[in-house]
Amino acid sequence: MTFINFHTHRPASSSDERVVQDGIDTWGIHPWYAADADFTVSPPSGIIAIGECGLDSLCPTPMDVQLRAFRHCIVLSEQRELPLFLHCVRRLDPCLMLRRQMHCRQPWIWHGYRGNARRLRLLVDEGFYISFGLHYVPQALLECPPDRLLLETDDDPRPIREHYARVASRLGIETNELARRMQANFQVLFPEIF
Ligand SMILES: [Zn+2]
Repeated sequence: MTFINFHTHRPASSSDERVVQDGIDTWGIHPWYAADADFTVSPPSGIIAIGECGLDSLCPTPMDVQLRAFRHCIVLSEQRELPLFLHCVRRLDPCLMLRRQMHCRQPWIWHGYRGNARRLRLLVDEGFYISFGLHYVPQALLECPPDRLLLETDDDPRPIREHYARVASRLGIETNELARRMQANFQVLFPEIF
């Protein structure tokens, strides 16, 4: 059984973990570092997604710089037909507005979702995938459609397998069944590398 870790800043911690490693498998301009970003650098070939990128109301980067970086990443996601990993902190409305205004066709993955179930339904209706890290609102997890649910550890060093076991028990399913669902979602998001 393979446990897919949809967003991590670390390499796989064991042979049964398959990771989407930020900065290796993905390329993006994080809002925290957008002020120093070089917009002329083109993403390396071989990446499977754009990100993480987005908007963050709690970081010191000026919002116009964040917006410029985010738009740049959105354009790359659409041009290269790659899904986008979204980092969004208290900036839901502008993120949704950009997605609509720029007529985005690529799936966006809301990474580290910690919001409530009501907002989750809104995001699912907008076409989002929802990636749950180690901290989340249990009711939101329960309401997430299985075909939009992803799991991640972000920068936590613990093995993703433990996260799978806890989430599976909360959902009332077997860990293997959860792993199968995650594999199916991975295949839909990244068909060319499956
Ligand atoms: Zn991250």
